[in-house]
Amino acid sequence: MFFDKSKSENIASLISREFGGKIEKCNASFGLKTCKYCVKLEYDNMKMEVYVFYPYFEIWIKNFHIKEDVLFSINQSKASSGLMLPVKRAFKNYDIPVFTNSAYNIEALKKFCMNSENEKDIINLKMSNEEVLSISSSQIVMRNKSDDINLIRERFAILSSFFNRNNEQELKLFSKSSYRIVIGSPLDHSIKRDQNIVRHTFGGVMEDNPPQCINCHRPLHFLAKIDMEDPKLKTKAIGTRFLYIITCLNCEHSSVPLFIEYSDKMLRVIRQEKGETFNNFPAFLEKREITLIKDPKSTARGIEFNESRHKLGGSPDWIQSDEIPVCPKCNKGMQFIAQLETDNNVDIQFGDNGILYAFICIKCKVIATFMQYH
Ligand SMILES: [Zn+2]
Ligand SMILES: [Zn+2]
Repeated sequence: MFFDKSKSENIASLISREFGGKIEKCNASFGLKTCKYCVKLEYDNMKMEVYVFYPYFEIWIKNFHIKEDVLFSINQSKASSGLMLPVKRAFKNYDIPVFTNSAYNIEALKKFCMNSENEKDIINLKMSNEEVLSISSSQIVMRNKSDDINLIRERFAILSSFFNRNNEQELKLFSKSSYRIVIGSPLDHSIKRDQNIVRHTFGGVMEDNPPQCINCHRPLHFLAKIDMEDPKLKTKAIGTRFLYIITCLNCEHSSVPLFIEYSDKMLRVIRQEKGETFNNFPAFLEKREITLIKDPKSTARGIEFNESRHKLGGSPDWIQSDEIPVCPKCNKGMQFIAQLETDNNVDIQFGDNGILYAFICIKCKVIATFMQYH
């Protein structure tokens, strides 16, 4: 009989039927046990690997990332393993056994567990003896012992709430090299230019269907148009020839970025929060030439005070805390592409001496811009 042949296979197919994912034969070893089947699946942003070795299965979530340097394990049987030491009062209201290694930050761990929502989720997992939940700064692992699909379903939902509340986006770079963006003098419009020649520009306007600000209903301001065919650029391809950095200089920018979908033919706002209009900039900025200069040192944070902070590639110089936008189409963290700072020489202002940051999701062809200031 199929079901008696392998109980591990039974649990694997139960999970795969319910949540999707393919069953693979597997020989990973877990202490004294060998995994026979594993299921790799995606559930609510979590990339999960479920290893089954009856009567247990282990769920590994490897795309988890938090800044706190913690490693702890919750183990109802109270059997700490190896070098793990019990942590007193990791939870505010409950006596749940938590173990950690003294090499990790115990204060950060307590803060993490005492967060009332984290506490609630961990309690609601209702882990029995022999079940273990282990959390570190880069993954979540949960050892379970259940073939009750209702219980498994409930636990997947709790894990996903825990994951999505705590998971921080990791900064992904569009280009390791960074290029200083040098904005030159206004262009002479009387000279006809060859469209095939590589050229980066600041300002100007799109002739057909310029994208509009949802707040003030005026065309958005074009700050940079980068020609991705420039052979000097060692960045990823974005699926179109030009990369546009666009914002509305007239409207207040709330905490939500301005998201723009791009293609060869059009640019379209797909998400923008309402804000107040308080500036009255001209409809478009004077068109100027942009030169990109490879900057050997600016991938490091904290550029010298006098240097321009207009740049493409590398990592962002945050004014406030790190802020990585999530793509509204695929829910994944976006990649940093460029930043432009307040620059009175070319009439751009981002709040009080602020910086405008641009991020991209190449897969969904979405660009996000937002600013930070003092
Ligand atoms: Zn506007
Ligand atoms: Zn996306």
